[in-house]
Amino acid sequence: MAESDPKTMAAAGDESPQIPASVRAFLDRPKRMFIGGEWVEAVSGRSFDVFDPATGEVIAEVPAADATDIDRAVKAARHALEAGEWAKLVPADRERLLWRLSGLIEANAEELAAIESLDNGKTVGMARMVDVAAAIDYLRYMSGWATKIEGATLTPSFKGIPGARHVAWTLREPVGVVGQIVPWNFPLLMAVWKIAPALAAGCTSVLKPAEETPLSALRLAELVEEAGFPAGTVNVVTGFGETAGAAIVEHPGVDKIAFTGSTEVGKIIGRAAMETMKRISLELGGKSPVLVLEDADLDQAAARAAGAIFFNHGQVCTAGSRVLVADAVHDDFVERLAKAAEAIRLGPGWRDDAEMGPLVSEAQRKRVLGYVESAREEGARVCCGGVAPEGAGYFVRPTVIGDARPGMRVVEEEIFGPVVAVQRFSDEEEMIRLANATPYGLAASIWSNDLRRVHRLIPRIKAGTVWVNAHNLVDPALPFGGYKQSGLGREHGREAIHLYTELKTVWMVV
Ligand code: ADP
Repeated sequence: MAESDPKTMAAAGDESPQIPASVRAFLDRPKRMFIGGEWVEAVSGRSFDVFDPATGEVIAEVPAADATDIDRAVKAARHALEAGEWAKLVPADRERLLWRLSGLIEANAEELAAIESLDNGKTVGMARMVDVAAAIDYLRYMSGWATKIEGATLTPSFKGIPGARHVAWTLREPVGVVGQIVPWNFPLLMAVWKIAPALAAGCTSVLKPAEETPLSALRLAELVEEAGFPAGTVNVVTGFGETAGAAIVEHPGVDKIAFTGSTEVGKIIGRAAMETMKRISLELGGKSPVLVLEDADLDQAAARAAGAIFFNHGQVCTAGSRVLVADAVHDDFVERLAKAAEAIRLGPGWRDDAEMGPLVSEAQRKRVLGYVESAREEGARVCCGGVAPEGAGYFVRPTVIGDARPGMRVVEEEIFGPVVAVQRFSDEEEMIRLANATPYGLAASIWSNDLRRVHRLIPRIKAGTVWVNAHNLVDPALPFGGYKQSGLGREHGREAIHLYTELKTVWMVV
């Protein structure tokens, strides 16, 4: 399965990657983990390779942590939490440190965008506009929370002690040492989504980036050090999920696990975390429906539905991977969506004319193409894409699958790639039934200007976020998380502070 189309493939392989000097210097520095304020190798001396997904070439080698290294990182985080400089800081100090870190990310934005592009495959433009810009905003938003963590005063009704007066209040205390495990789709931003609220709340962190994309988290650790966070506050460990990740989840010195990744791994983590009753927050997979009602402007809805799935190559937990379209307009809609997909230009992330880069890994490409194959076998119509272009890199052409039906794997399972399945519905009841016919419940979008109908539909959709005439919008202030098997807990806003604090009740008899 290979195709080569000069119109839709920015010429890859005819030039070597354009890597800025600062990124080259970063890549040339030996990669170490950041533990207890020191740069260290894995105790075992083991390491693993990191690849450029646009070429398949090795671009770095990073330490492969195991349980011994995790123990070291957890102890450093515990020390910082209880006895180090971090423990002595007041909320405004934490606010200032987070703000300073945001400024350092801003000052190094171009370098970070280029690192992210090289490691993950996304375009530099996208990394700059989305990943890096959102990381800066997120840190700034969360820095403000450090000084705004509140409890409540309460009046008990207890009458059992004659003559006594009762005073009670609640305190929000840092949950403690948090293990934070993040995926490869937005490596820097996911790391920031994790560390920012944890640090605002006064916790300390052991952060593990995904093995596919560890580089921006290591650069972030350098900036954490430069910002002046006390030693052990943030520890960045690189390693594989089954070894380093599992060791974080199992470590008795970790109070909470915050995880973003697949539902499958989320369940493994959830079960293991219960052994020591760790607090957990899980932001997991999705199969988010895009609901196109009859009154929607078809051209606009098709263009936006293309954005909903092809943004970040479909490697987004909220990706609009199922489109439900009214029967009457299904064929017209699919045609428009396929046209939008075909116009997307692929190329390595550093090329200015590339609109979509490669998928993150060869394994991911195989997986995605396997889903397209299953759709063909199950009788769906592959309207466009479904192929890997010739040449190096893990590219997959944006793919639209029409006539998709319940029971097909492309309808039921999260693909995490640029593949959208379009289904028909004949009336509103069928649309709602199909929209909710999934174990996931992360997000959904409704495309209509019929306000009464939209209001009627919103409460019937089982999803953590419902967008109307938009998809994939995220804001630091708006709670984010999933219903059903899309996760546990809500990140962002006040909810994120709740995730990183324990509530203590104080009851005083006076
Ligand atoms: P994806 O399927 O998108 O690659 P995963 O859920 O496998 O996502 O991985 C997300 C993160 O979880 C990565 O940092 C990975 O190393 C980590 N991970 C994978 N398996 C485990 C595990 N058994 N325990 C802890 N962390 C894990």
